[in-house]
Amino acid sequence: MPGLNNLVANTAYLRAQQVKREELRKQRLSLTLPKPKMSSALRAAVERKYESLCERQPIGIKLFQQFLCAANPQYRIATEFLQELSNWSFAEDEAREKAKLSILAKFCQPESRSFLSYPTGEAAERCKSVTDNNFDVMLGQIKEDTRDFLRGKPFSEYLNSPFFYRFLQWKEYEEQKISDRYFYEFRTLGRGGFGEVCAVQAKHTGQMYACKKLDKRRLKKKSGEKLALLEKYILEKVNSLFIVNLAYAYDNKTHLCLVMDLMNGGDLRFHIYELGERGIRMERVVYYSAQITTGILHLHSMDIVYRDMKPENVLLDARGQCRLSDLGLAVELPKGKSICQKAGTTGYMAPEILRQEYYRTSVDWWALGCSIYEMVAARLPFKDFREKVQNEEVTRRTLDDECKFEHKNFDAPTQDIIRRFLKKKQAYRLGCHSGDDPRNHAFFKSINFRRLEAGLVEPPWVPKSNVVYANDTDQLRDISDVEDVTFEAKDEKFYKQFSTGAVSIRWQKEIIDSGVFDEVNHPKLNGHSCENVWE
Ligand code: ADP
Ligand code: MG
Ligand code: MG
Repeated sequence: MPGLNNLVANTAYLRAQQVKREELRKQRLSLTLPKPKMSSALRAAVERKYESLCERQPIGIKLFQQFLCAANPQYRIATEFLQELSNWSFAEDEAREKAKLSILAKFCQPESRSFLSYPTGEAAERCKSVTDNNFDVMLGQIKEDTRDFLRGKPFSEYLNSPFFYRFLQWKEYEEQKISDRYFYEFRTLGRGGFGEVCAVQAKHTGQMYACKKLDKRRLKKKSGEKLALLEKYILEKVNSLFIVNLAYAYDNKTHLCLVMDLMNGGDLRFHIYELGERGIRMERVVYYSAQITTGILHLHSMDIVYRDMKPENVLLDARGQCRLSDLGLAVELPKGKSICQKAGTTGYMAPEILRQEYYRTSVDWWALGCSIYEMVAARLPFKDFREKVQNEEVTRRTLDDECKFEHKNFDAPTQDIIRRFLKKKQAYRLGCHSGDDPRNHAFFKSINFRRLEAGLVEPPWVPKSNVVYANDTDQLRDISDVEDVTFEAKDEKFYKQFSTGAVSIRWQKEIIDSGVFDEVNHPKLNGHSCENVWE
């Protein structure tokens, strides 16, 4: 009964996503944090950098804030000030004006109880001279003064406090070995070159993920080991709202597993072609393109070129925000050097790749131009939908032809941004030299990138929570088998390199978002508060 199997799989998968926090808490055994071993304490000691411990790692941020609030009123004021400043920077219109007046009254008036009295010298003068008019400039500097202050005495006191001990306990927990037993497994969502991708759920927290399983035998047969490591390495390095993030990497007897953000809203190709009317509404095209641009800029800022930009690789999450996925073709560019390597998908490859010339990040902007075109017109600039055409002909058109805009939905800014992305010469292409940031183009005039980057712009379309945006499980089943593979010692070494367990920032977010952090840290719930963890 193939249809029934699929129904059962879908029901379990949809139910898991709606599981309530209370239900999970009942199932979960009470969690006691391990004592930090010397090794994790030492590692953290080596990395005793303020930025990493107090500004980047989510649990670190929380515990540092709790320390500041408990330690001393001036420290508390400093952290409150930073919080309000951050709220102000993301607020709009009236709320922004209100936030500004509140900051002025609370922190910049010497008679206020929460006046910033920790700055000394020049910095102290700055606090007194803030007005409505110089607010933006001055507050940027005072923010830096405040960070300098926190990085000094408060930070070194924190390192000797029970709050930091608690942080080390969480680190110890974070470093536990991950295996299949850590997750519940649900239906298959898609199929890739080395195996399937299925939905999984972390047992402790109820957090849903997608698990990309790479078959060890298939990897060995096709010599895909290096590629798998590279994909894992790049996924782990990026931390962006607009790129699928890696949460865990582990292996079992048969597979290497990459556990990533679950994107249950389907890919953009599916949305362009498979949902009745072809193409995507303009408001959505602009929104997705803005998020994609932000994701690409994030990769480029780390000298990584994506090389596989196409709607099929852009996945939607439950809220309707999109992320770049499948970083299997991405590479890190050598400092200051170009590369010359053919990679990509027919129809999206830039002229410089097709001519086998040297390139750096320019190829992603070309592919984005093709993708925007496709979202609007439901065909590629140089290849019609389902057109039977040789790759050589697509190459010829890409190199020689001008792009035509026959579809009715191409308005002037859309045509212009596509034309600029589709400049055949890298030097003339939008995004390829400093000073022409694609985000400033008129196509994006409705987008506030600062808010978008903070995840604060509501998506124009939200996936339905009772629909599975994936092909039926029966269509995704794999029947082929790989034979004649024997494993050697060097394979084991490679698996070890791959299986690094939880990825810090993502894991810490999971612990906080699921409520596990508050539950364990709550003095009444776990029997000891932060003040008496010294044993
Ligand atoms: P490959 O590199 O082998 O092409 P992909 O990373 O593209 O593998 O994954 C294969 C398929 O699995 C995708 O086309 C998509 O349908 C599904 N998939 C991949 N990642 C996710 C994810 N994070 N969430 C949901 N589905 C995913
Ligand atoms: Mg793929
Ligand atoms: Mg791939």
